[in-house]
Amino acid sequence: MAISFGHDRPWGGVSQREYRRMAQEPWHPLAYRVHFAALGWADRQGHAAFDPGKLASLLGKEGKPLSDQSTTNAVNRAKRFGLVSPRSGAACLVLPSHLFQKGEGAPVPCRVHQDR
Ligand SMILES: [Zn+2]
Repeated sequence: MAISFGHDRPWGGVSQREYRRMAQEPWHPLAYRVHFAALGWADRQGHAAFDPGKLASLLGKEGKPLSDQSTTNAVNRAKRFGLVSPRSGAACLVLPSHLFQKGEGAPVPCRVHQDR
């Protein structure tokens, strides 16, 4: 499927590898780190699914994972700011298609969002 954000909506690519790295940089505000993680790990449908505790460990610092509560708070803040879809949770961050599209990768089912 070709990438298209619609008429008069230019787009460019990002390096997901760099966003994965930036998501783990402790000096960024947590809500933005959640956004970076969503960008870094998003699959073709804009879903970034994480194994249990994985997002908390990515958002931690000095090798110490973020608490579950702080992880939930960070995801909720990112949702409030419109940085990730309201359907996001610590198990799967979702980017809406007006923000993110990807031209390659298999359309695989999401284990968190069965209805996509
Ligand atoms: Zn999902």
